[in-house]
Amino acid sequence: MKTIDLRSDTVTTPSAAMRRAISEAEVGDDVFEGDPTVKKLEDRVAKILGHEAALYVPSGTMANQVSLRMLTSPGDEILCERGTHIVNYEVAAASALSGVQLTPIDAPNGILTPDLIEPFIRPENIHHPNTAVIAVENTHNRAGGRVYPMELLRDIGDLARKNSLKYYLDGARIWNAAAFHGVSPSAIAEEFDAVSVCFSKGLGAPVGSAVVSSRDMIKKARRIRKMLGGGMRQVGIIAAAALYALENNFKRIAEDHRRAGILATRLAESGIFEIDPHEVQTNIVVIGLPAQLKLDTFIDKLKSNGLLVVPFGRARIRAVAHLNVDDNDISRAAEILVETAKTEI
Ligand SMILES: *Cc1c(COP(=O)(O)O)cnc(C)c1O
Repeated sequence: MKTIDLRSDTVTTPSAAMRRAISEAEVGDDVFEGDPTVKKLEDRVAKILGHEAALYVPSGTMANQVSLRMLTSPGDEILCERGTHIVNYEVAAASALSGVQLTPIDAPNGILTPDLIEPFIRPENIHHPNTAVIAVENTHNRAGGRVYPMELLRDIGDLARKNSLKYYLDGARIWNAAAFHGVSPSAIAEEFDAVSVCFSKGLGAPVGSAVVSSRDMIKKARRIRKMLGGGMRQVGIIAAAALYALENNFKRIAEDHRRAGILATRLAESGIFEIDPHEVQTNIVVIGLPAQLKLDTFIDKLKSNGLLVVPFGRARIRAVAHLNVDDNDISRAAEILVETAKTEI
């Protein structure tokens, strides 16, 4: 029987139609700004996000690191939530590559508020790092795909502007946040000075992310990308897949949310796991294990029963709904989780 892979929304593979778009892509040398497919993708994503310009980059990590460098100078400080991707999953790149300090702020459920941020904004003083950026992540991965309320994003933006700070969004999953609120991605992105987005998560492209911002900022970003080794040549080959994903797969993202909700509900009904279906807002399901289940053993057992998930902190696992799983897969996944747990308890 086929293995159901819910480790991440990055595990999707290109469909026949996406492969066709790849094979038919017009290409050129993008370091010379001569790749028409990349240009088209950048124009499109800038427009969809309501910004002047965009830059295609190989990964979400590079999108974040290009952006943070673009928005700061060495000695600056970036305020962000403790569970964010830039703090936990980017190999300390902001300090290593840009000479800046990330100051993590604790927030209930991973969601920052102006009240939580304000005390961290430092007055000017020769001893202090220069507070330069407020960075938020929406949806928030470690917080289980949680979405910022729109009003809160605006209020944090007001705080940033009041203090002359740049406002940055790690929007790897902005598509999920927009689908959750039923708004266009631009309604979220327009609040920010710069935004990064991923094509290779919910949208299902094989590779790639983008940074959007003002024309001047993106000019700067293009130099930084080159410095980091991210200048690519006939890259329309993969940009074509991202363009296809953007045009075709955004509108189906709510399906993933519905399926994640079904999985969470089934697991809650079993009474075995620690999970509240009301907390599952998007495509990510974080499942708390009862004390009798050992994390690594349980994950191995799930694997031999045909289900892949990832560990997610102590005594928790993560399952993510995506483009390559259907209703049957989700039902089977719930069954495997419940039945495997029963045999282990
Ligand atoms: C996946 C992810 C990234 C980085 O993506 P890579 O392409 O794996 O480098 C950045 N931010 C968030 C919130 C993510 O989930």
